Amino acid sequence: MRMTDEQLELIKGQFKSLKARSDFYAKKFADIDLSDVQSQEDFEKLPFSEKDDLRAAYPLGLQAVPDEEIVRIHSSSGTTGTPVIIPYTQQDVIDWATQFARCYEVAGITPLDRIQITPGYGLWTAGIGFQLGAERLGAMAIPMGPGNTEKQLKMMQDLKSTVLCATSSYALLLAEEIAQRNLRDQLHLRKGVIGSERWGEKMRNRISNELGIEIYDIYGLTEVYGPGIGISCDEHHGMHVWDDYVYIEIVDPVTGKNLPDGEVGELVLTTLRKQGAPLIRYRTHDLTRILPGDCTCMCGHRHPRIDTLTGRTDDMFKVKGCNIFPAQVEEVIAITDGASSEYQVMIENISGKDILTVLFETPLEGEAKTRAEEQLALLFKAKCGCSPDAKGVPMGELPRSEKKTKRIFDSRY
Ligand code: ZN
Repeated sequence: MRMTDEQLELIKGQFKSLKARSDFYAKKFADIDLSDVQSQEDFEKLPFSEKDDLRAAYPLGLQAVPDEEIVRIHSSSGTTGTPVIIPYTQQDVIDWATQFARCYEVAGITPLDRIQITPGYGLWTAGIGFQLGAERLGAMAIPMGPGNTEKQLKMMQDLKSTVLCATSSYALLLAEEIAQRNLRDQLHLRKGVIGSERWGEKMRNRISNELGIEIYDIYGLTEVYGPGIGISCDEHHGMHVWDDYVYIEIVDPVTGKNLPDGEVGELVLTTLRKQGAPLIRYRTHDLTRILPGDCTCMCGHRHPRIDTLTGRTDDMFKVKGCNIFPAQVEEVIAITDGASSEYQVMIENISGKDILTVLFETPLEGEAKTRAEEQLALLFKAKCGCSPDAKGVPMGELPRSEKKTKRIFDSRY
């Protein structure tokens, strides 16, 4: 994706004083003269920012404005040690609200809607982001926060909530409760705004059918405002990202090299206007791709789209020079005629050569099985970039597990 002139100007603008304002970047770019960055190509040579860099700046090392300009902080969940603290200026809060209100608008939500917000409030950016956007839009926010299903259902009925904001798992829980109590007819829900994560089509359909709502995926992360930097539209094909606030890149998670539009890799974000804690080339570890031919979305929005998240870089495996994600293998299995849902990927190294084998269960035998094997190998090559040995095995032959079944076996290391 080409960086637009406006984006380049915004980047060059913030680079003029970035090192003077921020100790963090003074240190990070100590050997780099930022005034040398005059093009997208120059920009792509800058080092990435990692979550660990942000953690090392705890508590307020990321702050790039004087104290009196900071109006609040948020923090990413510190499940693995030190949290990351992000300071916000008044303008940052306004910009976040503007982006979030735009998300609601794309989802067809209006000032007449009543938005029941179930994500958590507090240090985390979730609940408060949904709230900010609702107020900016002019809709009625119902700030529930998570849990207390009884009360959620009561408010949902009494206040005639029309929009549900939730994580996918909480939306499912509510949907099941509503089905069990036969409450569907007493509800006025029409839309769901669900925090984007990798979740199955099956679960989505269940929530959508049981609640009778149209679902939109919202994207964002605490380090970059919070939820609301992008959302899916009525086309339900990828998520538009607000490229006047955030510059997106997709890079190879291993080499860090920029990838062309359409190829799956790691999403890297640069904030274009953020004051309190600007981020330059921040690695999200989220896997996705830029949908090519972006200016043509049928919904009428020109903002570029990223695909539904494929997973996290931590799940990726590399074989024969290709980066492969479990979700891609699942896709290949799903579209191969005669393959059941059960499969295994084996990666071995025999005399210095990587051997990739895909085992899949199939009821087919003889020639029909051979055809399925050939088809799978071709589809795999097209989707993942390299050819496996595909082997059909009888139904029930691959091991099952009550928990998440392990499907990728890498014996190389
Ligand atoms: Zn669209």
